[in-house]
Amino acid sequence: MTTRKYKELVESRTRQTLQKWSEMPAVEEKEIYRFLHNLKGTSGTVGLDIVEAFSGSTLLYFSEDNHRSWTEAEWSDYLYPLLDLFAEPEATGAVPPQIPGIALSHDSIHQQYEILVIDDDVELVAFLRESLERQSYYVSIALSAERGLKIFYETKPDMILLDILLPDRSGIDVLNQIIGKAKKERVPILIISGEHSKEIQMYAYSLGVMDYINKPVDIDLFLMLIKNRFELKKEWQESIIIDELTGAFNRKYFNQTMKLLVSDYRRTSRTFSLALLDLDRFKHVNDTYGHLVGDEVLQAFSELVRQSIRTEDTFCRYGGEEFALFMPNTSAESALLVIERIQEHFAAREFTAKRENFNVSFSCGITEISERQQDPEKLVEEADQALYSSKHSGRNQTTLFSEELLAGQRLSILNVIVVDDDPLIRRIITGNFSLWEPDNIAEMKVTSFADGELFLGSDWYAPEEKYIILLDGVMPGLDGLEVLENIRSSYPEVNILVIMLTGRNDQRDIIRALQMGADDYVIKPFHLPELMTRIERLAHRFLF
Ligand code: GH3
Ligand code: MG
Ligand code: MG
Repeated sequence: MTTRKYKELVESRTRQTLQKWSEMPAVEEKEIYRFLHNLKGTSGTVGLDIVEAFSGSTLLYFSEDNHRSWTEAEWSDYLYPLLDLFAEPEATGAVPPQIPGIALSHDSIHQQYEILVIDDDVELVAFLRESLERQSYYVSIALSAERGLKIFYETKPDMILLDILLPDRSGIDVLNQIIGKAKKERVPILIISGEHSKEIQMYAYSLGVMDYINKPVDIDLFLMLIKNRFELKKEWQESIIIDELTGAFNRKYFNQTMKLLVSDYRRTSRTFSLALLDLDRFKHVNDTYGHLVGDEVLQAFSELVRQSIRTEDTFCRYGGEEFALFMPNTSAESALLVIERIQEHFAAREFTAKRENFNVSFSCGITEISERQQDPEKLVEEADQALYSSKHSGRNQTTLFSEELLAGQRLSILNVIVVDDDPLIRRIITGNFSLWEPDNIAEMKVTSFADGELFLGSDWYAPEEKYIILLDGVMPGLDGLEVLENIRSSYPEVNILVIMLTGRNDQRDIIRALQMGADDYVIKPFHLPELMTRIERLAHRFLF
C-alpha cells in the first residue's frame, strides 16, 4: 500500500504549523506538546520512522500541563530540525516477504460494515479511511467526541475507532456515553491512541473498550484485527434475539418471526397484521434534551407497548427508533384499534427533562397478509408506505395500507448540487448523476454553480426536498467554507448533506469543514466511482 501521499500530507501540515507559529508572538506549551504527540503517532503509522523517533524524543521537553508560552527564538532549536527529516531514505530494493493465504482480499467481506472513526488527527484519519475503504469498509468521520456521538446515534455504525485525546476534553463525559451506548448496542469499540500510560489503558478497558491499540499503528496487523472483530460481532449477533436497550426483540428475530408467520399463513391461512411504528420528531427530542433522555423515551415507549399487547404478539426494534409489531390472528382493522389505544396513552404521557415537561408521539402504518400479498419484503414496504402517509398527514396517527396509497407514492425529491469553479468537475459529476436512480427517491434534480455567490443567490432551497451538496473548498469570491457556514447557519441540517471537495494540501480546511458541519470530504483529484459510493452511502441517511 502506498503511503507516499500521507507522508506528503504529514510533511506539509508540519510545515504549515511551524510557518503559522513563526508568525505568532508565542505559542502555548500545551499546543507544542499536542502537535508533537500527534506527529509521533501519525508519522510512525505512515512509515516516517525518523520523524517518529525525533518527535518522540523532543516530546520529552514539553508538557501538556505547563502553562508557559514559547517564543520562536525558544522553540526553533527544538522544532525546525524536524523539517529536514521528511526526505525519503534511499530505497534498499528489498521486497517485504508476502505470506500466502492471509492477504486480505477485497471480496472477503460481503456485508459492507460501517466504521466510525473519532479522532482529531486528520492525516491519520485520512490514512485509516483509505486503508479501511480498500477493504470495502465504509468509513465515517468525526473530529470531536460530540460529533461522534451524533453520528453514532444517527447512522448506527458497526464499529467505532476512537482516539482518546480529543479536542473537547470536557468530552470524557461524551466518551463515557459513547462507550456505554456502544456496549448496549453491541458495537465493538477500539481505542487508537498515542497515550501509552497504563492507567489510561486500564481505565479504557474498565469502561468496556474492546481493544487498545497504540500508535504508531501497524496497518496490516490492524486490518486483520478489525476483520476478526467483525467476525466476533457476527457471532454475537447470531446468538442474540433481544435488544438490550428496549427489551424488544431485535431485527434478527423480526426476520425469523416474519418467515414463520408467512409460512404458517401459506399452510393454514392463519392471518396476521404487521404494524411499523416510528417515533415522531425524535431528532428534536435528542437535540433538545440529549441522547440519554432520548434513550429513556425509547425505553418508556417500548415498555408501554409491551404492556399493551397480547402474549402471542411479537414486538421488535426494527431500527433506531422504529419498531415493528406482529399481531397473529388479527385483521388490519382490529390492529388499528389496538395501536390507536397505545397511541393515545403514549401521547398523554409526560416526560421531564431540563425542568421541562414534554410529550412524544409516534406514527404507525399497518398492513395485513393476504392472498394478494405474501412476500415478506413487500409486506414491510406496504406498512412503511402507510407509515409514511401517517407522517405526511401530520403524525401521531395510524394508516392502513391500501392500493390507493401507492398512487400517492412517496414524493421525495433529491437534489444534487455541485458548486465548483472547475467546469470539468461540474460536467463529470452532473453527467454521472443523471443516470443515478436511488431507491425511495421519486425524482432527481442535478444542478451546478460556478461559484458560491451564484449558488447562495439562487433560489435553491425547498423545505420538503432533500439535498446533497458537493462543495469545492477553494473558489474565487466566497470560498467553500464560507458557503458551508451559510448553509449550516441558515438552513436545517436534517435534509442537507454536504460533501467538501478539497485539494490535497488543505488539511486545515478539512478540519474546519468537518467542524463546521460538513458530512464528509473527498480529496481532489478523486476517482469518480469512489465519490459515487460515498454519495450513495450518505444518501442512505435520508431513508427512514
Ligand atoms: P419523523 O417524525 O419524520 O420520524 O422525525 P424524526 O426526527 O423521528 O426523524 P427520523 O425518524 O429520521 O430520526 C431518527 C432519529 O432517531 C435519528 C437518531 O438521532 C435517533 N435515534 C436513532 N436511534 C436512537 C437511539 O438508540 N437512541 C436515541 N436517543 N436516539 C436514536
Ligand atoms: Mg422518527
Ligand atoms: Mg425513523
